Amino acid sequence: MCAIVGYTGYKPAIPILLDGLRSVEYKGYDSVGIYLPLSGPYKNVGKVEGLVDILPDNLVSTAGIAHIRWATHGVPSLENTHPLTDTNKNVWIVHNGMIENHDELRQELQEKGHIFTSETDSEILAHLIADEYEKCLKPHNAVAKALEKVVGTYGLAVMFSNLPDTIVIASMGNKMSIGIKDGEYIIASETAPMLRHTSNVVQLRDGEYAIVTPQGYTIYSFDHEKLSRKPKTIDIAKETALRKDVPHNMMKDILELPRVLENSARGRVIMQEGTARFGGLDEHMKELSELKRLIIVGCGSSYYAGLIGKLMLEDYVKIPVEVVYGSEFINRKVMEAQDGTIVLGLSQSGETPDIIDSLAIAKKAGIRTYGLVNVVGSTISKMVDTGMYNHAGPEQGVRSTKGYISQIEVLALMTLELARIRGLSKARGAEFIAEIKQLPDKVRTILKERRKIKKLAEEYLGYDDFLLIGRKYNIASAHEGALKLKKVSYVHAESFPAGEVKNGPIAMLNEIFPTIAIMPSDSVYDAMRKDVELIRERGGPILAITTEGNMDAYSFADDVIFIPDTRECFSPILANIPLQLFAYYSGALRGFSQDAPLRPSNVVTFDQDTDE
Ligand code: GLU
Repeated sequence: MCAIVGYTGYKPAIPILLDGLRSVEYKGYDSVGIYLPLSGPYKNVGKVEGLVDILPDNLVSTAGIAHIRWATHGVPSLENTHPLTDTNKNVWIVHNGMIENHDELRQELQEKGHIFTSETDSEILAHLIADEYEKCLKPHNAVAKALEKVVGTYGLAVMFSNLPDTIVIASMGNKMSIGIKDGEYIIASETAPMLRHTSNVVQLRDGEYAIVTPQGYTIYSFDHEKLSRKPKTIDIAKETALRKDVPHNMMKDILELPRVLENSARGRVIMQEGTARFGGLDEHMKELSELKRLIIVGCGSSYYAGLIGKLMLEDYVKIPVEVVYGSEFINRKVMEAQDGTIVLGLSQSGETPDIIDSLAIAKKAGIRTYGLVNVVGSTISKMVDTGMYNHAGPEQGVRSTKGYISQIEVLALMTLELARIRGLSKARGAEFIAEIKQLPDKVRTILKERRKIKKLAEEYLGYDDFLLIGRKYNIASAHEGALKLKKVSYVHAESFPAGEVKNGPIAMLNEIFPTIAIMPSDSVYDAMRKDVELIRERGGPILAITTEGNMDAYSFADDVIFIPDTRECFSPILANIPLQLFAYYSGALRGFSQDAPLRPSNVVTFDQDTDE
């Protein structure tokens, strides 16, 4: 999720490693650490510059590994900051990603006498490698053997205390590359740290590992076969320009959405049992099986994700769910302690003041509190009885994009787990999971077509007012789409349940008031069609977001955006992608930089070719 930099060669490693870390700071992180052979690790909970402050002046080393961390397991703390080591401090690792079977592995290793010092999933890698290294004394073989036991994703760099110029790297689901210069090797999870030094880069593929020393490198497959791979020359000018061209964190975040969906579901889906499992909920299964009423509290986008969660839980678990604004919780008579009631607070940052206040009120009243937050160790994660993490990675844009999408997915998985303990069949659970697994690729398909959405944003640039409508699951999409248009492009956008338009909003519609109708081919499509027919009479343009292949849309809509077919409850995930893109392009075309509210930027470059 975050970033790795390594160096082995003949020059002082520290400036190269620090520069490399600075070049990836844009990714967002909570802590930073560096391992230098013979002088041990240096760590800081906070920024790279804070690490610089604590590094002794007289350090000399010609090799090292460094990491910026975005915590997924274990709060941001010095103990949990990478590099991490084994009991005897023989092996040092930095790791990007998540290890799914870390609990079982930790238990096995503890039984063998290993002593753990962090709460991270990553630490098991150091212990496993150390175990193997004792047996075989070949560093790359030890890494390969250890990784055979691991389920999860990793970009990994490993150093051994007794081999001060050797780095072993491995890749699975997270990239690792070697930048090659005469007698020097820069190792990194991104291209940025290498650009200043070399354009000669060789990238590991999933399931490969490599040993790197100042004398050279060798790449292996996990079947221990030596691989010969020629380095690629990267176009430094193009790469640098591209980086400058993606100044908008919002676009960066949008392009990461397929990975976000993969990561939020990672390790939580058990296909053979047709269910989902959250570590945080495991000990609360009795309480959850007796749940009578759930109150979801959210603000802004989280509130809308809550509306979708409510419908899913009512559809599949059949329990009453209320969704309350964080700012309104205090005004509601929901504060008396009631058995079987849980308040679930939603907040990307885990620091939303209204959610903190709501949860505090619920706690005081003796109501059980759960949280769904993205930031490990945040205030909400610490104050609730239990909860779940989004695992969406750092959200860099100021607008919730990754947060919103991952909240919906986690709520879907929670719905599945609760539905299964209340009688949903294994087969139906498995179908549900199969659909979830297809979502990342479906989002990729939509993102590939983003230039069409940019064109539409250009076409609609002359309009100052928008109405967004949907029914059932996509009422939330309409609200969230309108919120993004307001926040990102500063245009007036209203949103209503489509069936309510006739009861008032219709009066304001005319030929200069476009409507965006979110209407996948689902159980409410026919009703939506009638709503749209009515709106058409007012003469404003209609932009429909509907399911691929629904040619009927051309009979009433001026413009159509297609999204792949999916289960009704997942359609808000797919429908939200074009809405985020439309808001992003509309804002950029109006001269607003999405990362700095109300600051028009002179040069707006908002297109880039890289996916994710
Ligand atoms: N899962 C690891 C941790 O929480 C690595 C996180 C990252 O990719 O930065 O320490």
